[in-house]
Amino acid sequence: LPADDVFADVAALAQRLDHLRRTKRLEKEAQRSRREARRFPNRSDRVAILAKAGRRCHLCGGTVDGDDWVADHVLAHSVGGDCRAENFLPAHRLCNQYRWDHGGEEFQWILKFGVWLRTQIEKQTIIGREAAGAFLAHERSRANRRKRKVGGP
Ligand SMILES: [Zn+2]
Repeated sequence: LPADDVFADVAALAQRLDHLRRTKRLEKEAQRSRREARRFPNRSDRVAILAKAGRRCHLCGGTVDGDDWVADHVLAHSVGGDCRAENFLPAHRLCNQYRWDHGGEEFQWILKFGVWLRTQIEKQTIIGREAAGAFLAHERSRANRRKRKVGGP
């Protein structure tokens, strides 16, 4: 499916997203035997990683407080990114969690959807209100699951 056809209709967009997800999965499987053991940056690597990004999260640009950040692989470890300090940048835990190992085009789509949807929610369009309601229900459900995990059975 050529990338330009993605704008043809909803099914074409869904197909493109599915294609990106499948391609990434194949790439991960191909890399599995080749990738080096995961190695976390040591204390002096972390100091250098934080300094090269000016103490900012490389995903959102926000400042990083104290030691509350993660060293994020720029090229994901799962697709062959190495564990040298050069392949790490600082990221907030939340930003890193949502960045996950989405490929470049996948992540650009996610940003485009997010920016578009944010406008819909802010303007309280029909679709914005609908999506915000579903999103809030989803977030509450996630928060409740986390509470149950921490608090016992
Ligand atoms: Zn961030």
